Amino acid sequence: MKNTEEPKNITWAEGKVQFEDRCENLGQEGMVIWFTGLSASGKSTIAIELEKALVEYGKAVYRLDGDNVRHGLNSDLGFSPEDRNENIRRISEVAALFKDAGMITLSSFISPYQEARDFARERAGEDNFKEIYVKADVETCARRDPKGLYEQAINGEIDNFTGISAPYEEPENPDLVLDTRKLSVEECVEQVLELIGIQIPVREAAGGSE
Ligand code: ADP
Repeated sequence: MKNTEEPKNITWAEGKVQFEDRCENLGQEGMVIWFTGLSASGKSTIAIELEKALVEYGKAVYRLDGDNVRHGLNSDLGFSPEDRNENIRRISEVAALFKDAGMITLSSFISPYQEARDFARERAGEDNFKEIYVKADVETCARRDPKGLYEQAINGEIDNFTGISAPYEEPENPDLVLDTRKLSVEECVEQVLELIGIQIPVREAAGGSE
């Protein structure tokens, strides 16, 4: 995951505006909220509701989502361990840039390897990164299966499927665990808002989605 070599003949072009200036203009703290968990654990659903609540509250937010990013920036990558790491490496850099722009950046990626998630934290900076484990066991996720992927993976039609034929490393030290078998979407959103110190009446903003 490391950027192994210092690029030659390239110098950082220092501007006259800093991260702090951008945050002050926006009236918020730029950060990366990184959702990790099995497919169908609830990452996107929670991020979508969180994004809506924050935007309605006047915050500048951007959501990076696994499937969306694989349509463009990472359309050349597959699901081998190497490609997954490259997928997360690129997203980590993009998320860090959005954070640097002052955005509240929501990233929903399975991101099954701790090393890759640690890299994302390192790029965003410890103070501006929250790792959130969206937790649901494989059986629950396979039962939900909103995209029909578990069925295909169990039938051997998809290789390297996390939880079935590829590993998922549970976060070692997450900032928050959301057990989506026990919490509603609204409760999950409320817990994230509490973690980042923003108070919004979520039940009204989220419009009771479940
Ligand atoms: P992921 O982004 O992790 O792949 P999705 O958000 O696409 O997962 O799908 C999660 C599924 O689980 C959705 O069908 C959603 O309605 C359902 N679900 C049930 N309870 C919850 C919850 N508490 N939080 C998030 N999703 C939930």
